Amino acid sequence: MPLSLVTIPCLADNYAYLIHDAETGETALIDAPEPGPILAALTERGWQLTDVILTHHHWDHIDGLPPIVEAFAPRVIGAAADAHRLPPLDLAVRDGDAVTICGETAQVFDVSGHTVGHIAVHFPTSGLVFTADSLMALGCGRLFEGTAAQMWASLLKLRALPDSTTVCSGHEYTLGNARFALTIDPDNVALQLRTAAIEEARDEGRPTVLTTLGEEKATNPFLRADAPDLQAAIGMVGAEPADVFAEVRTRKDNF
Ligand code: ZN
Ligand code: FE
Repeated sequence: MPLSLVTIPCLADNYAYLIHDAETGETALIDAPEPGPILAALTERGWQLTDVILTHHHWDHIDGLPPIVEAFAPRVIGAAADAHRLPPLDLAVRDGDAVTICGETAQVFDVSGHTVGHIAVHFPTSGLVFTADSLMALGCGRLFEGTAAQMWASLLKLRALPDSTTVCSGHEYTLGNARFALTIDPDNVALQLRTAAIEEARDEGRPTVLTTLGEEKATNPFLRADAPDLQAAIGMVGAEPADVFAEVRTRKDNF
């Protein structure tokens, strides 16, 4: 049976996620922006937290952890590369590691770029990937530590997953991302339709962060740096995809 997924809005625009396996009763949390909404979501469902995955070291993804550890003593999983600046880890993971979480074999990807040491975790059986501030709905994280080439390589790893994969990212930035994407890709009909749906969702206060990889591949300009039509739209036909990605990222930084 696929894992149940719960999206938890935290702080101003962060998201944490819970996944739960009804058979084993195990529950995992992805990122801990703040404890209140996470503990409430667990209590409401009567779920015992068994694991926490920390995607990267930024405060808005880890600062809520202490009361959660105190309440449930979960196994805390994070990147070995970031162990020195993450809360104490029970399991330090690396790119390519397979880890059993909630009864499912999950795959760890290093997706450095936003930070060096950022991880994404893919659950192939349930078709979920937790990307936090690497691949985001219609966007990608800012390059605080890594290079454009690093982020592009990270996005290519994620882009290789099945189109039906549900992408669960870390922030409600989608409407701003859509407005920017339209400046790069104004004639993209899929993007126009998606932007309208995002506007409606935000008007109704609904999260926009659960998307599919197929949808991202069709509309997210950061995944399309090697697409001839996108390259043509920004005057970079035939350029190295990492350079095209860098140009799109710079334009977004200045948007
Ligand atoms: Zn971050
Ligand atoms: Fe963040």
